[in-house]
Amino acid sequence: MKKNIVLFGPQGSGKGTQAQLSSKAFRIPHISTGDIFRQNIKEKTELGQKIEKLINSGKLVPDDITNEIVKERLQKDDCSMGFILDGFPRTLNQAQFLSSFININLALEIFISDEEAIKRIGDRRTCSKCGAVYHLTHLAPREEGVCDKCYGDLIIRDDDKEKSVKKRLETYHKQTEDLINFYYKEGIYKKVDGMQTIADVNNAVGEIIKSLT
Ligand SMILES: [Zn+2]
Repeated sequence: MKKNIVLFGPQGSGKGTQAQLSSKAFRIPHISTGDIFRQNIKEKTELGQKIEKLINSGKLVPDDITNEIVKERLQKDDCSMGFILDGFPRTLNQAQFLSSFININLALEIFISDEEAIKRIGDRRTCSKCGAVYHLTHLAPREEGVCDKCYGDLIIRDDDKEKSVKKRLETYHKQTEDLINFYYKEGIYKKVDGMQTIADVNNAVGEIIKSLT
């Protein structure tokens, strides 16, 4: 059976890492809408320029653009055995759109508490010069407050400050509640405890994917 998987989890849940690990283990592509956006912006495609304008003016990429990109991507050959979709769907509308053209077999949530998300993101430090990202508990710089690579000052990005994180978590929960209900009714919703180690989360995710028959 195909492994058509949607993966979701709050910021700090490590879902990107898990998506990559499972993508390798099961040889199905990891498709991140964020990556597709960034790629298009980098290559200055027509789409990329459109997206860049939206992002620079503080707007979200509208559903019709995101939907089209995802639909096109999922129809490529490398998705014939399945895929792990990361960052999409975020809303009920997007989930309904997705189900209108493809059969999803698993909607997997990597769950961490808000407290943990705030802590994990709060421990993130970014170099003000080169943009390198550190993490105080598992990727600490050699010298406190100083970038290993360029000796720039390490800062907490505005986006990583507690107030911004709380606001994003609120939005996440509001949207995800609808998604969970939708996929729960379809009988394909599963949840993994994201508070375990990366390896344990990976094992738990792997077991669930293996059980898709
Ligand atoms: Zn640096």
